[in-house]
Amino acid sequence: MGEFDLIQRFFSWPTPRAVLGVGDDCALLAPSAGMHMAISTDTLISGRHFFPDVDPQALGHKALAVNLSDLAACGARPVAFVLALALPEVKDAWLEAFAKGLFDLAQAHGCELIGGDTTRGPLTITITVFGEVPNTPTEAASHGVSTGALLRSGAQVGDDIYASGSVGDAALALRALQGKITLPDSLMAAARARLERPEPRVALGLALRGVATACADVSDGLRGDLDHILESSQVGATLQRDALGSLLATRKNYPGAASAFDAAFGDFAAQCVLGGGDDYELVFTAPESKRLAVAKAAELSATPVTRIGQVVLAHGITLMDASGKALPSLAVGDFASFDHFSLG
Ligand code: ADP
Ligand code: MG
Repeated sequence: MGEFDLIQRFFSWPTPRAVLGVGDDCALLAPSAGMHMAISTDTLISGRHFFPDVDPQALGHKALAVNLSDLAACGARPVAFVLALALPEVKDAWLEAFAKGLFDLAQAHGCELIGGDTTRGPLTITITVFGEVPNTPTEAASHGVSTGALLRSGAQVGDDIYASGSVGDAALALRALQGKITLPDSLMAAARARLERPEPRVALGLALRGVATACADVSDGLRGDLDHILESSQVGATLQRDALGSLLATRKNYPGAASAFDAAFGDFAAQCVLGGGDDYELVFTAPESKRLAVAKAAELSATPVTRIGQVVLAHGITLMDASGKALPSLAVGDFASFDHFSLG
């Protein structure tokens, strides 16, 4: 099968939104009036971001999901994407499953595949997504840049800090797949789904427009991604240790309750929540006066949201116990966030 046949067969889908889709040198998109285009790109490399033998349908899903997650973090609505694919060989069944995983998620979000590039090489998937967000600044998040997009830079001292969904389970699943820990079978499937089939929080991102003051998606670990917000906003944070523990779905569902989980995994669990990564949840800030609006956004998007801490003036992150006492022994700084260039 030649390159053109391959594109025709697996990657030529209807593109009603685009002016021109796959087939020419460029695709054409007409920007909507009153909108900024939000653009982001992410690469997944075999052996680095996924196991080479991962289910291709899950891989197709995840390759787009991690990109849609960036749009979600900006409060942008997905419009289209391009796919650059390097393949070591052409295997029909693999491509069919990969395309299905990709297509199902794309269709669910109305995000059209409008072009790409196909080459031979070590399995690598690069997707660039295009989304739209109003160009009018909202009261909540207009800090320096004139846009309605959610940015990292708008967090204010006194704001609440929230995380969506569950955080840390993907990292637990990864450690289990690597043979470092053992999870009960009854929980492994769910944890593994968090790792392999993340659901980008697009609906929540949209609902948080005009509500959140700052937002980022959790791809490299909650601590690191929250740090991006704090650094951009030039503020610090206190986090409630108990709230962090409640973010782990695996812990919540552990046979014999959370205390049994803590006995088995201890600080390792905290490490997975704060430094694990691959969660594709949103971490965001909003003023206390918007607590009701945040709850409404969560309800509207059918996405659980947990308040995990507060924005403070003093830079850095301090972990607090239930009585409001700082926990010096469990310095959050010990949990490094994932960084490709720190691994050597
Ligand atoms: P060019 O050589 O001009 O860059 P190509 O021959 O690489 O164009 O691609 C032909 C058409 O197919 C283009 O419209 C391109 O965007 C599209 N295309 C190539 N690979 C993919 C892919 N993996 N998914 C979707 N569209 C693709
Ligand atoms: Mg060309």
